[in-house]
Amino acid sequence: MHELSLMDAVRELALEQAALHGAGRIAAITLRVGALAGVEIEALRFAHAVVMANTIADGSRLEIEAVPAECFCAACGQPFAARDGCCDCPLCGRISRELLRGRELQLASLELG
Ligand SMILES: [Zn+2]
Repeated sequence: MHELSLMDAVRELALEQAALHGAGRIAAITLRVGALAGVEIEALRFAHAVVMANTIADGSRLEIEAVPAECFCAACGQPFAARDGCCDCPLCGRISRELLRGRELQLASLELG
């Protein structure tokens, strides 16, 4: 389950940020998760509980900020929603390989204290 190693990296970053701000506790962690990031939210929640145990983020809330996938059609000059990862333009039917967003898995924000 790669969610564990992803969450491991999130923990490192979160603890680093908390230390920078002199925080003794992390109350909540918000992750930005793209629709095509290839992670299961349930698995992320499980991984979160596992990797945060015995750290200052133990018992913290995990907030997920879902990012829909969006492609750009060069022919139409328009972005469009890439539902289910299908990147064919709804206007002209061309396949776009320009994914604007939807693959991110980032630490969006922390609630410290
Ligand atoms: Zn198009």
